[in-house]
Amino acid sequence: FFSDKSAKIFVAGHRGLVGSAIVRKLRHLGFMNLVLRTHAELDLSRQSDVEAFFASEKPQFVILVAAKVGGIHANSTYPADFIAINLQIQTNVIDSAYRNGVKKLLFLGSSCIYPKFAPQPIPEDALLTGPLEPTNEWYAIAKISGIKMCQAYRIQHKWDAISGMPTNLYGPNDNFHPENSHVLPALMRRFHEAKVRGAKEVVVWGTGSPLREFLHVDDLADACVFLMDSYSGLGHLNVGSGKEVTIKELAELVKEVVGFEGDLVWDTTKPDGTPRKLMDSSKLAGLGWTPKISLKDGLVDTYKWYLENVQQ
Ligand code: GDP
Repeated sequence: FFSDKSAKIFVAGHRGLVGSAIVRKLRHLGFMNLVLRTHAELDLSRQSDVEAFFASEKPQFVILVAAKVGGIHANSTYPADFIAINLQIQTNVIDSAYRNGVKKLLFLGSSCIYPKFAPQPIPEDALLTGPLEPTNEWYAIAKISGIKMCQAYRIQHKWDAISGMPTNLYGPNDNFHPENSHVLPALMRRFHEAKVRGAKEVVVWGTGSPLREFLHVDDLADACVFLMDSYSGLGHLNVGSGKEVTIKELAELVKEVVGFEGDLVWDTTKPDGTPRKLMDSSKLAGLGWTPKISLKDGLVDTYKWYLENVQQ
């Protein structure tokens, strides 16, 4: 993968948190020939548009990170969108990529594909061994289908499609929506706005006891190019940091990085979601990849980006 810097690479979803990090990484590595389409230019949920795009562009590699994403609130409010749009996007892109001679495709899912009460840390083979967390099962079912589709095309067509399952991600270009985003950007924005207003309290959802693992998106992008270069297996691979914090610890850390000096108030009418979600990323570590960015450094970097980009 690294040997030909002029290879044509389609990054599907390049404006999102993950896609923008992958584009930064590929450009940094000297890849010149990236094919990028905004949502307005190409709606990946429309089969005929995706087919026409692949037939004319003929990319050599595809990194599929386009998806409809969101936190607990968004998932439970828009279940139809989460299952339908994600199934459409991935089915269209994977099938068209195969039919148009793409050499290798990387599909990314997320840790919510695993059963709610999977063993912790969660190994890859916990997939489909129990019921999902109900608040995000719509998204999870779509992503599980994507993994299985990559496996099926590999088996039937001997085609090089692989999948990676990142843990909770954060970083530049995250969604900082107050209700529909994930916990880390939601809290960063809430603490920031409270600091600016001079508020005494910030509301945080749930009990604070759930455990979550976070990975900076630049580490994920690094893992993606690593996988494109050195992994061609049937099974999906977890991509995590291996470090977990409670939501309370996270809230305290974000509060410190933002510089908010008031108190935390826990709204226990909001759902906690899965009690613990730590991935077992030892397979990836065994291949020789490890993350480099600590949560503290990553938060500082993300807050800097927030101040420069989101406020205005
Ligand atoms: P999850 O990892 O799929 O559960 O997704 P989230 O990032 O949405 O939530 C993670 C945890 O953070 C849950 O226990 C939430 O209740 C908690 N949390 C605390 N405050 C917030 C908030 O402002 N927004 C979100 N999305 N979650 C919050």
